[in-house]
This record gives sequence, C-alpha cells and structure tokens, in this order.
Amino acid sequence: MNDIYLLVSSAEDEVGAPVHEWVEIEKGELSFLPELIDYCRTNVCGKYGKSWACPPACGTVEEQKEKILRYGKIFVFTTRHELEDSFDHDGMARGRERHNLLAAELKKKFGNASVYGAGACPVCETCAFPSPCPFPEKMIGSIEAAGIDVTELSKTAGIAYNNGPNTVTYFSIILLK
Ligand code: SF4
Repeated sequence: MNDIYLLVSSAEDEVGAPVHEWVEIEKGELSFLPELIDYCRTNVCGKYGKSWACPPACGTVEEQKEKILRYGKIFVFTTRHELEDSFDHDGMARGRERHNLLAAELKKKFGNASVYGAGACPVCETCAFPSPCPFPEKMIGSIEAAGIDVTELSKTAGIAYNNGPNTVTYFSIILLK
C-alpha cells in the first residue's frame, strides 16, 4: 500500500464518500482545449464573472496552462454519482458538491496542493469576487475554466469518462510536484 493510497482512503473516510478512480500522470498527458472557455462565456452555470476561479478572473487558458505545466506530476481522480435520469439536475448538483468536498479534503491531505475541481470554487456559499478572496489558501480552481479537456484526459489516464446510464462522473486534478 503506497502513500497516495493511504491519503485517498483517509480523505474518503473524512468525507464519507468514495473516489471512483484515481491515477498519477505526467504533465505531458494533459490536453488543453482553449475553446472550453467559450462554453464558460455562455454562463450556463451562472458563475461567469462571479468567481475568482472562473473566467475572466482566473486568467486565460494559456496563463493557467503555464502554471499547471510548472508541475511534473498530476494526480487525477473521479467520483461517480447515481442519477434518477439524465435530467436529474439536483442529483448532478449533489454529486458535484460531494466531489468538491473530496477535492477539498484531498487538497489538505496533499499539503494544500493546487486543486482544480468541478465547476466554480465551492469554498464560500457566495464567492467574494470582486472583493479579495479571504481564503486564497483554500481556493479550488475550475478544471473546465483551466481549459483541461476531460474527455482526452480520460483516454490518456485510462479513467472512464462515462460510468453507465443515469450516472454522472466528475473529474479533478491535483498538482503534485
Ligand atoms: S475561497 Fe471563497 S472567495 Fe475565494 S475563490 Fe473560493 S469561493 Fe471565492
């Protein structure tokens, strides 16, 4: 049993929810898709211009890519959540919340490493933006706003993107070293 396995188990125990799959990859295995920020601009989630973790405040994909690629190893994990049907938006929101609780716990376990979770930073009920972030050390970035192509990541990392009908799978990355 290696250290990462123990950290993951301990985070799962703290949160009371399981990681579905995890793997450590090299930074070169990440794919970036700058066009993803165009989806953010459509503001379907309502967080565009409302969170430090989302565009435009989080910076361009190029800026975020440059930061992420300063690290050598990337920890990737997913969580899988059951839905009533493919329109179960409440179930998706609950799943995202549980996923981000695990992301926050793993951030602590990995020595306050930089984490990119699902959607906008979940730490505060309402982000302080545009006032200064009161908890920069707790902030969780957005994997989508960083332009990370999760579909490609699932292929290169060997992690399932789709875990069956009426389920949703969320992805996070943690920058290790
Ligand atoms: S920690 Fe709070 S204020 Fe800071 S980015 Fe996250 S939600 Fe916004």
